[in-house]
Amino acid sequence: MKTFGAAFCLLIFFCFSYAVTQKPQTRALLGVALGKEVSDWLNEVENKLGEGVFAEFAELDPEDAGGDYTLGVSYITNKGVAVLRVDESFRESEKQTEAVIAHELLHLRLRARGYPLFLFSPTVKTKRGPAEDVEQSNVNDLVSMIEHKIFAGEMRRSGFDNLIDLTNGLEAARRMGSSEDGQAEMLNYARAALEWNSPKSLDELTKIHHANGWKRSLDGGRKIAGIIRASNINAPNDVAPVFLRCMFVLYGGNFRVEPDGRFALAKVYPQMIIYVKSPRRRSR
Ligand SMILES: [Zn+2]
Repeated sequence: MKTFGAAFCLLIFFCFSYAVTQKPQTRALLGVALGKEVSDWLNEVENKLGEGVFAEFAELDPEDAGGDYTLGVSYITNKGVAVLRVDESFRESEKQTEAVIAHELLHLRLRARGYPLFLFSPTVKTKRGPAEDVEQSNVNDLVSMIEHKIFAGEMRRSGFDNLIDLTNGLEAARRMGSSEDGQAEMLNYARAALEWNSPKSLDELTKIHHANGWKRSLDGGRKIAGIIRASNINAPNDVAPVFLRCMFVLYGGNFRVEPDGRFALAKVYPQMIIYVKSPRRRSR
């Protein structure tokens, strides 16, 4: 009898300690129950940062944008708190909200795993002004595209691909007319080639580029898509070489990157500063 009693107590103790130390298998965010896989991503981000993720619905496009182009955004504050915002337009749909949460968690998980972001040095100038003012958004788009390739399989499983409105992309390209043939158009084409999963819509976009005379962005977009498609990124240090090869196509120039030693979140992930690579002097 005595032995039975001791075993019984032990059993209760184990059950109790399991209950207090294990987080629930699935989690909820913004009132939406997350699936097991997405809950795991949330747990990993929170465990690595040591803080809960802050999530909210917000209007992510400016009033004059004429539509909802931004589905979600995420970043880590200087204090190390992950912030995740989902566009207001998804408030009524739990499934779509979960897909956007999942997508942003995949970006945040890369930060928490030490994958870099890239920022122009104030020393890089363009004809239109400092690159950090006029070109940083293109660099951010490029990095996002590389990250989408890293977690492509998980992104597809989260249902995010179904939310991308291809007609929006085609309309925007049609509206721009023949004057533009720059970095943004090149990146849009690369994104379509990599992420649209619709040969018919890509064909449509190719026709718009031809009609607008956007040869540079068509050729460059194809090259950038090719570089990202062929990339095999398994660790944070694998990102910079792919990024620099794309930058060479995007701007037709050579760049180099160096980690920012004064970056507040350097212990979480590196912020790489982009410099123009000066040509090597020939040795005599
Ligand atoms: Zn993304």
